[in-house]
Amino acid sequence: MKFTTKLRRRALKSGAVLLFSSLILSCTQQPNVQTKKETYTAWQDFLSLADFIEDKGDRTAGTELEAETANWIAQQWESLGYEVKRLPFEFNLQGERLSSQNLSIDIPGKSSELLIVGAHYDSVGTNTGSKGLIDNGSGVAALISLARLLKDESLPYTTRLIVFGAEERGLIGSKAYVNRDDIDLKNIRGMINLDTIIGGDKLYVHSAHSTPYKCEAIKELNYNSASVLREGIRAASMQSFPDSPHLLHAAFEAYPEGETGPWSDHSPFACAGVEIAYIEATNFNINGKDGNDGYSQAADKAYWDCFDEENLTSCDRPNEKAWGQIWHTKFDQRAALFPVMKDKLQAQQEQNVETLGVFLKDAAGFMSR
Ligand SMILES: [Zn+2]
Repeated sequence: MKFTTKLRRRALKSGAVLLFSSLILSCTQQPNVQTKKETYTAWQDFLSLADFIEDKGDRTAGTELEAETANWIAQQWESLGYEVKRLPFEFNLQGERLSSQNLSIDIPGKSSELLIVGAHYDSVGTNTGSKGLIDNGSGVAALISLARLLKDESLPYTTRLIVFGAEERGLIGSKAYVNRDDIDLKNIRGMINLDTIIGGDKLYVHSAHSTPYKCEAIKELNYNSASVLREGIRAASMQSFPDSPHLLHAAFEAYPEGETGPWSDHSPFACAGVEIAYIEATNFNINGKDGNDGYSQAADKAYWDCFDEENLTSCDRPNEKAWGQIWHTKFDQRAALFPVMKDKLQAQQEQNVETLGVFLKDAAGFMSR
């Protein structure tokens, strides 16, 4: 039995079916590793992480809580049998010298060429009350699920999962990573960034902007805006979720269709010559504060002061404060999200993990279509 969320969802619809599936599982599945994969799903990984962060404050870069979060992620990966590499770095912030770290694990593939899947684990919420559940608990939980899902799989590329520190302070972790002396950038086939992959109304996958980013503090500049990786992920998503695949956002102002800005960990990689794709949950159909730019994530009045459902915008533009924005706000926590969209969060988390799993198992194939 494959790790497929569709099967699982169907099974959950009926207790009888569930009982039947568990009977089949218990009769046919002997090895421990297999059982572990099947019984622990993408949503459960997300819920475990939600439990971990629920009673804590925000994981601001350079704080003890950020370090504690790194340890927690390392434990999850280690319990799956991976060797975790810790890559510490230091940075200056308002005159203070602070430390953080990136963590990575490798899932060996037939080729030693790397496909990287990365997600930042710090958050920002001291002034807002955000707990960083979707930004970026969702991306981190997906990297734990992928480690579980792809364990002992035969992959075309060596797959490196990385959690980055200090993203919210200016992509410090991902910049430190591409600037490392021991990283051979030419050996990286692509980098998939997961940042806030649930909670917005729709799932998108972007490529880097065709106009180069500013690329500050990158050692080797060789800008790459190819979209083969993006299209490969879309093909995998269309195969597994033909009714609701990951989308390209429509063109808006200076952003051509499907192209994104430099505001997350993909950008140092694109600057350093690595092709990127970026998965994000938001809603480019909402006419937000500055137009259809994807900053407003959800068309649900729970996240607006005054929501105009017909026109997907604020009905009190001059006084609107909330703008359907979840990331970096008090809405980014379980209490504000689960009563409104728990089922959607689950479906999105599962779709992201399944799509990435399907893609990574045949990445070369999907990228040559
Ligand atoms: Zn983020």
